[in-house]
Amino acid sequence: TFEGVDITGQSAAQRRRLVRHIQMIFQNPVAALDPRQPLGRQVREPQTIHDIGAVTERGTMVSRMFEAVGLEPDLESRYPHEISGGQAQRAVIARALIMNPKLLICDEPVSALDASVQAQVIDLLAGLQARLGLTYLFISHDLKVVKRLCHRVAVMYLGRIVEEGPTDAVFDNPKHPYTKALISAIPTTDQTRRRNRIILQGDPPSALAPPSGCRFHTRCQDAIDICSGQSPVLRGFIHQRAACHVAEETA
Ligand code: SF4
Repeated sequence: TFEGVDITGQSAAQRRRLVRHIQMIFQNPVAALDPRQPLGRQVREPQTIHDIGAVTERGTMVSRMFEAVGLEPDLESRYPHEISGGQAQRAVIARALIMNPKLLICDEPVSALDASVQAQVIDLLAGLQARLGLTYLFISHDLKVVKRLCHRVAVMYLGRIVEEGPTDAVFDNPKHPYTKALISAIPTTDQTRRRNRIILQGDPPSALAPPSGCRFHTRCQDAIDICSGQSPVLRGFIHQRAACHVAEETA
């Protein structure tokens, strides 16, 4: 659902109206850009397709968007192979924002970038989020980035949400064993936390043939008899929800 409306099964015309409000940032920015078009034209293209803004003002809007995402104006005439990965991701963000979307789906947007460039793009996303009041659906394996950018977090295992709630609550007091293992694996210089690292045994099973009951039971160190036969539902705790038979409320 988007803004309370079920968006599955919509007509092509309805979907076209919807994409004005929902835009996407992809994992590999270079692959997300057209290699045969200069960046300025690519950022402008959504305006043309969706007839956004006066034709005479579109060039100015593109220039402003380049400035907003920290790209030099002369890059408008460059092609994707002439720029860095960080610049390419900024161009992809500019192309998404030119539509003035309400929701931005960010699919691993920094995982293909170098560490130093990652930090710059994360800062950019955080700044845009605050300045433009954007909503991000931020998909990532990097929990440090999730903690930095997200107000709520949903942890998934084999296609199911196993824990969901405000970011601080989930990170400070995780309920689900999988969440606990993920958080314990965040790199740290703290020796105590390093010693308490939870190492999961085995590999994730196939999502096409998931285990019976709780999908996590084949790797869970807290599993009890019921776990292999009965699938836990998301239960409410004080701040978050978790799908685990044995999770308890703790301070
Ligand atoms: Fe582990 Fe059982 Fe909880 Fe699943 S329901 S996470 S197997 S304790």
